[in-house]
Amino acid sequence: MSARVPPPPRNQFAALLRALLPDGRCRLCGLPSRAPLCSACQCERPAHWRCPRCALALGGPAALCGNCALRRPAFAGTLAWGDYAAPWDRLVAQFKFGDDAALARWLGMLLGQCLRAERPGWAPPRCVVPVPLSAARLRRRGYNQAWELARGLAGELGWPCDCTLLQRRREGPAQSELRLVQRAANVRGAFVAAPLARGARLLLVDDVMTSGNTAEHACRALLRAGADDVRVAVLLRTPASTPR
Ligand SMILES: [Zn+2]
Ligand SMILES: [Zn+2]
Repeated sequence: MSARVPPPPRNQFAALLRALLPDGRCRLCGLPSRAPLCSACQCERPAHWRCPRCALALGGPAALCGNCALRRPAFAGTLAWGDYAAPWDRLVAQFKFGDDAALARWLGMLLGQCLRAERPGWAPPRCVVPVPLSAARLRRRGYNQAWELARGLAGELGWPCDCTLLQRRREGPAQSELRLVQRAANVRGAFVAAPLARGARLLLVDDVMTSGNTAEHACRALLRAGADDVRVAVLLRTPASTPR
């Protein structure tokens, strides 16, 4: 995996301890498991038809979901490992708010396996790019869960990962704290990409996609810097019926 890595997270020591001393239980069902998710829970992942462009769960096969048919996103496709719904949303709470970087990295590996199996036509990107936090939020939170997911995925697939290609120049409230109508304005113009993106095929990684606005504006910044093709991989995709 790559060379361009961010400074060590503040909570790296705690994460390392957790990785070295796993509690031996599945994070979802609590049954004994050597991996953070037991194989039974891994198999319970719902298999939906999904919009190939934004990974929205659909009732059946369709070329695009209604939203993407109406307004084509800037990214060329999206892969989601599962739904942002119970019980899977607990995983995000554990790694995002419980400072569990090792869990995020392990789930990134799972996302990489999913990509290999379900998107065999996706050519290897020049690099995997995590959705960045602003410097201020990174300092407050101590680590960026999207970095850890991206590192896990990139390590699994043997692809380079570049945590410096995309920067966040300003940050409003977390998207999860806003209603859908406020989310586009919150991330519009928030990202800037390095000239190294020019001519590149890139894979953008984030933990959750709900409105798609974060991925849309991060992708637009990469395309403005000259990227050729940007696809997205998220751990969980919010189903359409979820309020907000
Ligand atoms: Zn389990
Ligand atoms: Zn769609």
